[in-house]
Amino acid sequence: MKASVLHELGAPPVVEELDLRSLRPHEVRVRLAASGVCHTDLSIRDGSMPALLPTTLGHEGAGVVAEIGSGVTRTKPGDHVVLSWVAPCRACLHCLRGAAHLCVHGLDHGFGDPYADGPAGPVWPAMGCGTLAEETLLPETAVIPISAELPLEQAALLGCGVLTGVGAVVRTAHVRPGETVLVVGCGGVGLAAVQGARLSGAARILAADPSPSARERALASGATHVIDPAADDVPAAARELTDGHGVDHGIEVVGLSTTIRSTYDATRRGGIVTVVGAGRFDDDVSIPALSLMADAKQIRGSVFGSTDPDRDLPPLVDLVLRGALDVNALVTRRIGLADVDGAFAAMTAAEVARSVVVFG
Ligand SMILES: [Zn+2]
Ligand SMILES: [Zn+2]
Repeated sequence: MKASVLHELGAPPVVEELDLRSLRPHEVRVRLAASGVCHTDLSIRDGSMPALLPTTLGHEGAGVVAEIGSGVTRTKPGDHVVLSWVAPCRACLHCLRGAAHLCVHGLDHGFGDPYADGPAGPVWPAMGCGTLAEETLLPETAVIPISAELPLEQAALLGCGVLTGVGAVVRTAHVRPGETVLVVGCGGVGLAAVQGARLSGAARILAADPSPSARERALASGATHVIDPAADDVPAAARELTDGHGVDHGIEVVGLSTTIRSTYDATRRGGIVTVVGAGRFDDDVSIPALSLMADAKQIRGSVFGSTDPDRDLPPLVDLVLRGALDVNALVTRRIGLADVDGAFAAMTAAEVARSVVVFG
């Protein structure tokens, strides 16, 4: 089967033929129908996110179950499935406390034995998924069966971008009807956050992004106001749009200390700042110590949108099916497996929200 494999940090991935190893107990082989190209794939290519090399990129996909290993009970060949890069163990301290997104074993499957052989030797699946390939194999807990009604091309984005963006608003920030929300950064995850704010009944949804096309997509996804950070001071613009108070919820989806600070400044006293963007390990955020106490804002980290794929994916599928969640608004380009590096360039230039590889 063909896969987009990264051999060297910073280099473009190459399409090559891999042989998957045979299934072990509780593993599932999936034939991919579609796979999104996520910003985290670019972070893996550039070395700011860890992966064992060589690695098949991609961690956001949907497809059809081709084969199951012994002991698999939750799915069977022919099922339509969404893949999750968190495979909850259901036994660690976090899983037992209902926080599957923090599972200490959730990513083990990407850092264990190689899953395939390629022309240059063993290959690992990035984030345990390796969805930018015609096929992959995963632990059954990372394979979530969904209704066959939803086209798999739309389902593909649910496993990372949509769970993360909608989850950040619904599960991390707990936005309530009538509140005001600012989303800083309107790539695929940011647009999903805008849609999450709309689904939550936010009264005003402000979206900030320097790209005019990203601001247009934010308006189409439900933003009520857009801010151009290149032209306007984001905290000042947010205060102006909220009677001088600042927003109830600042949602940061960029991952830079500067945008985290400006999201903090745009959030009202007592408000909630949710950090979704994946920043660098050496990029410290500076916040005045007095403000941390006196302004009583809460800062929340949001990994995987604080979601549990088993609990949260099926309702997202229902929302897409009844037209309440518009996944098509996040897809701006359909590409082939050979175009993954071009998708990174388009992502960096903010030309697209999401590029999706569709397998024939
Ligand atoms: Zn992702
Ligand atoms: Zn666990």
